[in-house]
This record gives sequence, structure tokens and C-alpha cells, in this order.
Amino acid sequence: MIAAFDIPVTKIGHSKLNDIPLENIPFGKYFTDHMLEADYENGEWKNVEIKPYQPLLLDPSLAALHYGQAIFEGIKAYKDEKGNAFVFRPIENFKRFNKSARRMNMPEIPEEIFMEGLRKLIAVEKNWIPSLKEHSLYIRPFMFSTDTMLGVRPSETYKFLIILSPTGPYFAAPMKIVVEQTYTRAAPGGVGFSKNAGNYGGSMLAATEAKKAGYDQVLWTDAVEHKWLQEVGMMNVFFLINGVAITPSLEEGTILAGVTRDSVITMLKEMGIPVEERKVNIDELLEAYEIGQFTEVFGTGTAAVISLIKELKYKEFVMKFDVTKTPVATEVKQRLSDIREGKLPDTHNWMWPV
Ligand SMILES: *Cc1c(COP(=O)(O)O)cnc(C)c1O
Repeated sequence: MIAAFDIPVTKIGHSKLNDIPLENIPFGKYFTDHMLEADYENGEWKNVEIKPYQPLLLDPSLAALHYGQAIFEGIKAYKDEKGNAFVFRPIENFKRFNKSARRMNMPEIPEEIFMEGLRKLIAVEKNWIPSLKEHSLYIRPFMFSTDTMLGVRPSETYKFLIILSPTGPYFAAPMKIVVEQTYTRAAPGGVGFSKNAGNYGGSMLAATEAKKAGYDQVLWTDAVEHKWLQEVGMMNVFFLINGVAITPSLEEGTILAGVTRDSVITMLKEMGIPVEERKVNIDELLEAYEIGQFTEVFGTGTAAVISLIKELKYKEFVMKFDVTKTPVATEVKQRLSDIREGKLPDTHNWMWPV
């Protein structure tokens, strides 16, 4: 077991913090002074250390660059009015990281390294957590294969890192979404449930083509009929039909089990809104829309928390939503930010003190 005090820290001389105003910062653009790094070799994790943020020197034959064993996580840390730092549900991200690792034939990371590494790195970088409303410190743990050879087999060596990026309010403008009819993000038996780099690479062309056609993102569908709904861009999706919240179920392995998705389900149930996790197809949405029962649709994820959808297009059918009347999405969003800001009691122990 590696206790927090065992992780060596090499501090930088001059903090960049003095040069970067922590106000309305764009997402993922600036990084803090330090990072955590660890290596996997000979069947064990070693060299866990916190050191100045710096470039990596990589061999051109690095396995991750060729065969894509690369996974990551996204988590947020907040600061309350008294200056205490909290991370939102990091244990869930830790568990999901190892699920992604298993699917990609990569070694799991021990809880001590992931959680204590996170705790210590954030403690070192505490001044980087913005205290302004809706601001946070985005945490990016990731792992990739580092064998230097071109033979196709699971790598025997890996690198694990955590980097941190202060971020301002993520202004999520209501989105126009097209139901994807050509490309597929995930299929049963595939890697859709894992947070691996390739899933993002494979989704970009669909998003680019949607943008050319005047849309912000796609609503992913199943690989066979392009009718069964999966996720919106890289977010989970919720539909409100006749007062019931419906979200695609996880069992086929085509959906990424979002921590925000899970938190939203919990909030909805507490608000007295029935939640159905099940298969849902586009015909059901069109029928409900026709009779005025399909009232809200939104995406969920750590970066934007909740993103409203104002238009959904499937073939020649266009469904429009009044984003000034989204009582359910608005209340869910408010409750989640109240929990983060300590205005609502944290009954589920979601706020993990650093
Ligand atoms: C990360 C991710 C999500 C959102 O997960 P959160 O834990 O809520 O941030 C949803 N879908 C995909 C494909 C993702 O990669």
C-alpha cells in the first residue's frame, strides 16, 4: 500500500498561477504546475511521483500510438466558500477506469495509487481550484501502453498520469442534434462502455459531418437498424415522455456508464419523477412528440453537466423543443449544483474531501 505521504513530490520553483487569471477560463486549455506519473513494468506499478508538469519523451514505436491501448477519465474538483476542496464522486471514476483497463487488456491501477495520488496532487495544487461560481478544477487521469515495438500484442509496460486543468463555466448552448444514420459509435461486444481514446477518434467524423449540415452533434444509434438510441455525442441522453424520464440501459455494453447519468437518475427519483432505464427507439419518440408528450431531451456529462437539446432531426422529421420550458432539466441541474455548493445536504456522500 502506498500511503499519500509516500508519494514523492518535486515542486517547481515558480508557479504559473500568477500568470493565469482563474476567471472564465476555456475548458482544457491551461494545466497546473504539477502532474502525477507512474510506470507499470514487470507486472507491477512503480515510480509513483508528483513532479513539475512537463512534456513526455516518447519513442516513435510507442505501442499506444499504433495500436490504441489508451484510456482516460474526467472528474471535477470544487472549492467551497470556506476554501475546502472536494472532488465529485471520484471513486466511481476509479472503478470505471479499471473497467476500461480490463476491456482494453491493460493492467488495473491499484486504488491507493489512483485515489491517494489524486488526493495528494490536488492538495499540492489546491490554489488552482477556482472558487468562483460554476468554476472547477478538471482532473484528467489517463493510461497508455509504452512498449517500444511494432509486434501486435498487449503491451507489457504502461504509463499512468494525472493532469489538472482549471476550468470556467462550461456554457452549453442548447444543441441541434441529428439522429445518426450512417456511422456507429458502439455495438454489443465492442468497446462502447469503456472510456478509451479510440471511441473519441472514431466519433469525430460523424460530428464533423453533422456540423457541416448545420447540427451540433449526433444522436448515436445501434449498428443494425440505426433506430435504437444510445448517446448524444459523448454524453448520456435522457428523454422526458409523459412525465417519465427514459434513458438507454447499460446492459448491451454500448453505453458509457456516466457518473453524471447515475447522479441525474438519483436526483430524478428524489424529485418523484419515475425513471426507466431501458431500450428506446426513435419511433417511440416520434409518436410521443406527435401527441405532445415528448417534452424534454438533454445530454449529461462531467464537462457540461446538463446540455439542453432544442432540435432533434430524424430523416425528414424535425422535433423542436422550447428550451425556456425545461422544468425537469432545470431542477436536476440546480440540485446538483446545490449539492456541490453545500446548499443541499450531501446525503449520498458524493463530495469527497481532499
Ligand atoms: C465520459 C463519457 C460520458 C459521460 O460520463 P460522466 O462520467 O458523466 O462524465 C458519456 N458518454 C461517453 C461516451 C463518455 O466518454
